Amino acid sequence: MSGSALFETFARAPLAFERGEGSWLITEAGERYLDFAGGIAVNSLGHSHPHLVAALTEQAQKLWHVSNLYEIPGQSRLGERLAASSFADRAFFTNSGAEALECAIKTARRYHYVNGAPERFRIVTFEGAFHGRTLATIAAGGQPKYLEGFGPKVEGFDQVPFGDLDAAEKAITSETAAFLIEPVQGEGGIRPLPPKFLENLRALCDKHGLLLIVDEVQSGVGRTGKLYGYEWSSIQPDIMAIAKGIGGGFPLGACLATERASMGMTAGVHGTTFGGNPLAMAVGNAVLDVILEDGFLEGIQQKGNLAKQGLASLVDEFPSVFEDVRGSGLMLGLKCKMPNGAVAGAMREERLLAVPAGDNVVRLLPPLTVTEDEIRQAIANIRSAATKLVAEGEAAQ
Ligand SMILES: *Cc1c(COP(=O)(O)O)cnc(C)c1O
Repeated sequence: MSGSALFETFARAPLAFERGEGSWLITEAGERYLDFAGGIAVNSLGHSHPHLVAALTEQAQKLWHVSNLYEIPGQSRLGERLAASSFADRAFFTNSGAEALECAIKTARRYHYVNGAPERFRIVTFEGAFHGRTLATIAAGGQPKYLEGFGPKVEGFDQVPFGDLDAAEKAITSETAAFLIEPVQGEGGIRPLPPKFLENLRALCDKHGLLLIVDEVQSGVGRTGKLYGYEWSSIQPDIMAIAKGIGGGFPLGACLATERASMGMTAGVHGTTFGGNPLAMAVGNAVLDVILEDGFLEGIQQKGNLAKQGLASLVDEFPSVFEDVRGSGLMLGLKCKMPNGAVAGAMREERLLAVPAGDNVVRLLPPLTVTEDEIRQAIANIRSAATKLVAEGEAAQ
């Protein structure tokens, strides 16, 4: 035994933090790390944001939990605000991204079921996708490394190559219910889809009577510089899953849908104990207060451009370490030539936190409240990390 009473499912860095302030995480010993991991795109307003702290503590003194058997005013309010600022008419609140996806998948299947086509239950997804770790969402993601050893793959998911419209159309059968897609693949390595692709996919859905589900668990809630990643194209989805950023660090997700797409989700067919509880709703509403402020999203685009320029110059400076910079807003990735784990480790040595992703990419997902000075600081830390990696590489030769 390794001396720990925890499942060994995470390969953790030997690092613990005592508190956070804005874009910074601070250890017990007072060491300050610049947090460009952001709890994996969760800490959208940074750490200890005063508006979130106030919203949570105020609610904590009134009411923590009541069942969804009763009205929850904060839930109605957050649902209305999410609907008013997106394509959606309705919301179902969850505690995580995977649960939001489960709800999205069930909503799509039920739509066809109540429309007299119960045989339409299959969902087409894309290679490199990540939709969560429940049994259905690992089947949707289709990655062998997450499916292995967990028994028969949940039935009803068909996968086609990333960005391949012909393959997408060929995958449609009389049993297909929907397409499920991340407008920007996050875990897959910050791989944005051309806007045209989403538009073509929307047209395919309309032609074949299918629903379009977008997974914006990582790309949503301002991350790419628009409120949702799908807004970089002209499409409107039918169903959307969000989580991560909407809770700002409190566990919160939502499945959003049009009235038509959610028509099968009637009383009793789906539920949750914790989803949409008053604490989560207080925080979700407080996150939206900030993100919907005039100019906030434009600020993300500006800061994202600054970061991307800085990263692009590092790619030029260190061609043996980096290959490319990807993404938009504050959802950025550095494709590496060296193993991405080593690159992220070298950044951590420079007190900058980033997250490895698929396709040998290191992700940078700072709080949306990050300052331009902090971005410059991060670029300087990455430069130091890359300089050391190059020196070590030369010493080893
Ligand atoms: C993180 C993530 C999920 C899963 O969210 P959990 O809260 O970990 O269940 C699903 N889809 C995408 C795109 C994600 O990035």
